[in-house]
Amino acid sequence: MINALFVGTDADWSEFGPSLLTTFAELPFPVDLSADHTPEQTDYIVMAGSNLIHDFRPFTRAKALLRLWAGVEDIVGNDTLTLPIARMVGGGLDAGMVEWVTAHTLRHHIGMDTHIHGQDGVWRNDTPPPLASERPVTILGLGALGAACGQALATLGFPVTGWSRSPKQIEGIRCLSGDVGDALEGAQIVILLLPRTPDTENTLNAQTLARTARGAFIINPGRGPLIDDDDLLAALSSGQIAHATLDVFRVEPLPADHPYWAHPQVTVTPHIASATRAAPAAKVIAENIRRGETGQPFLHLVDRQLGY
Ligand code: NDP
Repeated sequence: MINALFVGTDADWSEFGPSLLTTFAELPFPVDLSADHTPEQTDYIVMAGSNLIHDFRPFTRAKALLRLWAGVEDIVGNDTLTLPIARMVGGGLDAGMVEWVTAHTLRHHIGMDTHIHGQDGVWRNDTPPPLASERPVTILGLGALGAACGQALATLGFPVTGWSRSPKQIEGIRCLSGDVGDALEGAQIVILLLPRTPDTENTLNAQTLARTARGAFIINPGRGPLIDDDDLLAALSSGQIAHATLDVFRVEPLPADHPYWAHPQVTVTPHIASATRAAPAAKVIAENIRRGETGQPFLHLVDRQLGY
C-alpha cells in the first residue's frame, strides 16, 4: 500500500479529497489517501495549504511533495525539506488564468468603464476603441500561465511581447530575456505572471514603470512583491500608469486601510484570478504518483536554486 498524506484544512479536504480518492482508485496500484498518516508512514505528501508543516525531517520514506497550488515560495526555502517538490501545472489553473487575464485586458483595452459608469444620458463619446493590433501587451513571465495568456491574447490580435529568465520561442509571442526594460518599452498593457523569488522582487519599480507607454495599464495576478507599491502609486499619480488591476498583494488579505482600496485608478480583486480545480488537479497528482512508482521522472519539479 502506498500512503499519501493529505495536508490542508478541512475545507481543502472537502474540496479536493473526493476527486483525489476517485482518481487514485483508477491507478494500477492501491494508494491510501488520508490526513492521518504519520510522517514515517508517508510515501507522498499531497499539500494544499501553506505553513502547515514546518519540519519535514520526520518524513523519512517520502518520495515527493506534490503541491496542489502553483506557488511554492512558502516551502522552497525550508532547509528541512529535501524531497523533490512538484508544483501544480494545469489543474484548471491555466484555463482560469487565461479567462481572468483576457477579461481584464479587454476591460482596459476597450475602455469599458467609461460606458459602464457613464450611463447619464449624455452621448459624449463617439470614438471607438482601437483594435487589439494597435495595443502592445507585455507579459512578464512566460511559464505555464504567462505563455497560455500570451497566446490567447495573440489570438485576439494583440502584439504580445513576453519576458522570461531563459530564452524562449513561443508561437505568436515576441520572446525576450535579459533587460526587463526592453520588454516593457512602449507596452500599453503589462501583465505580471512571474513567481515570487528574491530575483523578481520589485520587478516593476520607478525605473521600469518609466519604460512603458505613458498611460499604460498594469495587471498583476502574479505576486504582490513583484511591484514596488510606492513607485506604482507615484506612477498612477503622475499619469505614467493609468490604472492598475491587482489580484495579489504583499499582505493578504489587503488591509482595509491600504491606499489601493480607495484609489480611483486601482482595482483590487481578492486573489481570485485563478484557482486549482479538484478534478483536473487530481489527475496531475495521480500521474506524478504513477511516475514515482514506476521510476519515471516527476512532472513540474521545482528548482530550489531558482526558487520556482
Ligand atoms: P512558471 O514557473 O511556469 O513560470 C514562471 C515564469 O517566470 C517563467 O517563464 C520563468 O522564466 C519566469 N521567471 C522566473 N524568474 C524570473 C526572473 N528572475 N527573470 C525573468 N523571468 C523569470 O509559473 P506559472 O506560470 O505556473 O505561475 C506563475 C505565477 O503565477 C506563480 O508563481 C504564482 O505566483 C502566480 N499564480 C497566481 C494565481 C492567482 O490566482 N493570482 C494562481 C496561480 C499562480 P523561465 O521560463 O526562463 O524559467
